[in-house]
Amino acid sequence: ALRQSEIKRTKTVCTYCGVGCSFEMWTRDRHILKVQPMEQAPVNGISTCIKGKFGWDFVNAKERLTTPLIREYGKFRPASWDEALDLVATRLTTIHEQHGSKSIGFIGSSKASNEEAYLTQKIARLIFRTNSVDNSSRYCQNPATQGLFRTVGYGGDAGSIKDIEAASLVILVGSNTAECHPVIASRIKSSHKLHGQKLLVVDPRKHEMAERADIYLKAKASTDLVWACATARYIFDHGLEDKAFLQQHVNGVEEFRASLEPFTLEFAERMTGLSQAQIVQAAEMIAHAPTICLLWAMGITQHSHGSDTSTALSNLLLVTGNYGRPGTGGYPMRGHNNVQGASDFGCLKNVYPGYEKVTDQEARERWARAWGVAPEYLSGEVGLDNFSMVEKAAKGELKAMVVIGEETAIADADTRNVIEAFSKIDFLVVLDMFVSRTAEFADVVLPACPSVEKDGTFTNTERRIQRFYQVMEPLGDSWPDWRILTELARRLGHDWGYTHPSQIMAECAGIAKMFAGVSYERLEGWKSLQWPVNADGSDTPVLYTDGFHFPDRKARLFALTWEEPAEAADGQFDLMLDNGRLLEHFQSTNQTGRGPRIKHESPNWFVEVSPELAAERGIEDGTWLRVISRRAEVEVRATITDRVSGNTLYIPIHQSKPGVNTLTGEHRDTEVNTPAYKELAVRIEKLPKP
Ligand code: SF4
Repeated sequence: ALRQSEIKRTKTVCTYCGVGCSFEMWTRDRHILKVQPMEQAPVNGISTCIKGKFGWDFVNAKERLTTPLIREYGKFRPASWDEALDLVATRLTTIHEQHGSKSIGFIGSSKASNEEAYLTQKIARLIFRTNSVDNSSRYCQNPATQGLFRTVGYGGDAGSIKDIEAASLVILVGSNTAECHPVIASRIKSSHKLHGQKLLVVDPRKHEMAERADIYLKAKASTDLVWACATARYIFDHGLEDKAFLQQHVNGVEEFRASLEPFTLEFAERMTGLSQAQIVQAAEMIAHAPTICLLWAMGITQHSHGSDTSTALSNLLLVTGNYGRPGTGGYPMRGHNNVQGASDFGCLKNVYPGYEKVTDQEARERWARAWGVAPEYLSGEVGLDNFSMVEKAAKGELKAMVVIGEETAIADADTRNVIEAFSKIDFLVVLDMFVSRTAEFADVVLPACPSVEKDGTFTNTERRIQRFYQVMEPLGDSWPDWRILTELARRLGHDWGYTHPSQIMAECAGIAKMFAGVSYERLEGWKSLQWPVNADGSDTPVLYTDGFHFPDRKARLFALTWEEPAEAADGQFDLMLDNGRLLEHFQSTNQTGRGPRIKHESPNWFVEVSPELAAERGIEDGTWLRVISRRAEVEVRATITDRVSGNTLYIPIHQSKPGVNTLTGEHRDTEVNTPAYKELAVRIEKLPKP
């Protein structure tokens, strides 16, 4: 037995989902002895899920990179940091000089810290004079943010997880909360069971929260905009809107009301497959609830009209007066632990940290002044997003990319394009803990550290910035991303001199208004801050209590029209393939797939088949199926379950080798280029027993 004095206890923040649980990690040297949740943790208290508790084997995995790698004659060889960084600096400088700012792109990491996101965009904007910088929110949550920008102004959750707990009605739309945001789901389950909270779930898949719901609407996939608009129309038609709120706080009410004309109950019934009675029952529940929190996730955003549907959900909250009070608001559920922070701290093609537009002259002047250059030195042109970078690289127009901790070759849709782009590009640099699928195409791989080997801050789904502390030394010769980026910048002629991430945060807080009062001192230990943070350190647990984030402080109802999804089933591809996460795993399984404890719980890939379809096609549990899309095919075993129904299948996204995204297509959200992962028509063939 170990003595207490031999155990080191360090506060850290979970590296998986956007809930942002924090806990103490108990270690001895590199051995992680236990994860101990603490009462003081502002988000989770004494709760965690299986990933936070047991998902740390990757830290000591034998596949961890411990030295830089340089590709030579088609193979990687180990190299020193000096050699690798000199090579990266020289090649990027040459490409920049020969082909200009538009030839280089950066993909920042939604797993790295806020300070590392800040440095990523600073290198892109200040050294290479390009706004072509993005992060994985492009793959998931940008449509939700767009819906909020259009209607209420801030790209973040309207309140806190405490508000979700306190709401009289929680609505979950396209969110498998129990598996994707488990600790938030626990809060809802307990409020629902013990405190009379009502639960309305809208989802084509009958997941755990749907089974618990007071009303469950199994709307057809891609039709959520229709029921949301039909509900808004029903509420207006019956005089149930919050008239005082609309009059005082909202613009565009009459135009919006007129735009709802096509969204009759008959139309909604035809499009969604829900009965008129079901839609009315839900609308009555929404109209009469004193406080509503509406949560949505990738079941809404990963469609060709994800931005519009996100807007429709926010519209509905405005119509019923559900913003600006405790227990109300819209909550896009952020997926990665720091996907909120990566966007907040500027890894987006159109904004500096704090969502200050690169096209705004005042913002550009302020950033230029702080960085010591003339305003015209910084590009005022919106850059490329992930999708456009890959597209341009495939055409030979983008010559170099720096990819930080992102598994683009697995996570992007229709990965054939990504492979083509990475095979063609002149120079690819990858910062990662492992030789990921993306790193396989790199010219240089720089070994990065996980969060437990460095200091920093993450921002969770409720805009809460929290510190995490270094638990153990970096493995081998791996470095934190902030150190790699600082050293790279120095070799590119910009000696910023950062020796600790607190200096990076202090610099950002001195420029970006949204973070004016953020400091490491104010985040010490279990303390946290929810942005925007004023210079005096006061933060904002609930947004919009004194008006919306527009010059006139008023929200905007945004008129919408209904458009068909980009890909639908037809005679040749007669089934729809839904896809998403499982509780036990995370994304490509680069982390969760490296230890027996998690793997044991969910070892095999599978596809869910409805009992009806199984009976019709003679499929049994365990039958091998070939799933064929318009682009590719995969082989996978069937699981028969009534979580899915009719001609819809469901497949987990968790594959470290090419999986579901060989099948997905080129369709994108029309506003923000997020792939329409969920609009995927396939057919199946039964394979003989192996
Ligand atoms: Fe980590 Fe999310 Fe699980 Fe909390 S709910 S322990 S943040 S994966």
